[in-house]
Amino acid sequence: PQPATGYSFSAASGPLPAEVRAAVAEACMPPNGGRSILSLPFTSDAYRRLQDETEACLRRLLDIPDEFRVLFLQGGATLQFAMLPLNLLGGARLAAYVDTGHWSRRAIEEAGRYADPDIVARAVGHIPHEHDWQLDPRAAYCHITTNETADGLQFDRLPAIPVPLVADMSSDLLTRPLDFTRLALGYAATQKTIGVPGLTVLILRADLLGRAHPATPRAMNYTAQAEAASRVNTPPVFPVLVAHRMLHWIERQGGVAAMAAAVERRSAAVYAVLDDSGGFYRNTIARAHRSRVNPCFHLADQGLTERFLDAAQRAGLHDLRGHPRTGGIRVSLYNGVEDEAVAALAGFMREFARTQG
Ligand code: PMP
Repeated sequence: PQPATGYSFSAASGPLPAEVRAAVAEACMPPNGGRSILSLPFTSDAYRRLQDETEACLRRLLDIPDEFRVLFLQGGATLQFAMLPLNLLGGARLAAYVDTGHWSRRAIEEAGRYADPDIVARAVGHIPHEHDWQLDPRAAYCHITTNETADGLQFDRLPAIPVPLVADMSSDLLTRPLDFTRLALGYAATQKTIGVPGLTVLILRADLLGRAHPATPRAMNYTAQAEAASRVNTPPVFPVLVAHRMLHWIERQGGVAAMAAAVERRSAAVYAVLDDSGGFYRNTIARAHRSRVNPCFHLADQGLTERFLDAAQRAGLHDLRGHPRTGGIRVSLYNGVEDEAVAALAGFMREFARTQG
């Protein structure tokens, strides 16, 4: 509980559980005068062990098959928008993209510098079934955003398609199991569901290696990074430590199944308030594609949005403003969010609707 400061529902960065914060603090300031993680050389055995254990834990949690490599990279998910075409096109130009909202559009825009992105489907309130995508089988890959953080729209399952499926999972990695029979590459910046900014986890099938454009910078080359165990240059040591502690915390909670149950329960609590509000709160996303992680909604009377945000803030419920492009309200329910926070928010929302409606 955080009674003094309240609760944050920020979409940009997820909260870390108190147990994880304490473990990170201890690694920064070891009580017995040991070496602080903040100055641990990446060349040391201790760092290698840390990275190996982090990868092993991630593999256990997601049941990652042996033919997949795990890379620990920098530059955020945004850098991957460029690294994907640089590494995967293999001399071709055609790459397929599904436009589901804000973040997929950012990926498409960036890919346009290196590729001919072909938009094979667009989501408007619901994600078209893959049978209805205009997918050219010659595309080097097909990119999706599994959870649209700004729009509150989420794939309910990974599509089965005949070209390598590449998925931005920055806002839902480790909130549900992953089907590796369908996925060729998945990536996520870690600041929302597994740690702090500065680390991007990338999981890719080994047969996708060896296709990088010759001008690809070495630190951005998946093959070079895979060969160097993600240590072409200095890796993000501190963010890896945080991910290590958070992944082990997730494992102690019961793994991905427990995270999936929690996000299901928490989002159901928020959607129940919307659906029971008699139209006071509005969400126009098809039920199957409502985000379990970032429920978004508008107040039917949009003139009440600022009043809602002010009153929430006074009640200790912070960072609820929707993405600037969509407006309205957004609730982010990353792995570190607590049930008490969601209960407090749901209670506040019902009361606000009762008194203002
Ligand atoms: N993709 C998605 C789905 C996101 O939610 C975000 C961040 N909000 C990004 C990409 C961009 O991540 P970064 O800021 O780490 O580049």
